[in-house]
Amino acid sequence: MLTSKHLFQEALSKFPHPFKKNNLTNAEKITQISSHMASILDILGLDITNDSLKKTPERVAKMYVEEIFAGLDESKFPEISFFEDPASNEKDRLITLKNIRFFSFCEHHFVPMIGTATIAYIPNNRLIGFSKIHRIVHYFAQRPQLQERLTHQIQECLKIILGTEDMAVSLQAKHYCIAMRGIKDDNTFTITHALSGRIASDPQLRMEFFK
Ligand SMILES: [Zn+2]
Repeated sequence: MLTSKHLFQEALSKFPHPFKKNNLTNAEKITQISSHMASILDILGLDITNDSLKKTPERVAKMYVEEIFAGLDESKFPEISFFEDPASNEKDRLITLKNIRFFSFCEHHFVPMIGTATIAYIPNNRLIGFSKIHRIVHYFAQRPQLQERLTHQIQECLKIILGTEDMAVSLQAKHYCIAMRGIKDDNTFTITHALSGRIASDPQLRMEFFK
């Protein structure tokens, strides 16, 4: 049995996030974000001494650090065990996981981008639990993101963990910066793909994936 954590950096180096590391603890981040959030509410003209708003700055700060942006914390990368299983690739066929729900944030507007991921791969001697694939999708989604980058980060990471080049990731997402502001179109979905190996080069497999 092997674990994936040491492979994580390698996966990230291919589609790096615009990180600028600091040495703040989570508690320090929450304190500082709370105070800035209080200023924003105050500048907007809200009375932050009001009972309903009083705890909003801290609530938002905690939500950013501990939940919706938890994927910025590399120590939160899911622990993944995988098993060598030569029998897994005997059949040489696609394994597809459809409609994996994810919640992310558009890094341009800081509003949600919500969608589903479809993932397909041809096994290469390794097996991991399907729930781990969900955890990887959720981990990378829990950052301020670009849909394109999210697609590639998931793909690179799964390629390394599953030890296969034959990997396809497709994301379909609603961007709330398009739905709630600007042109206010609530019906538009953005679709991105990242295909590699035989799924990219073999028309039959491509067709199977897009079907
Ligand atoms: Zn946006």
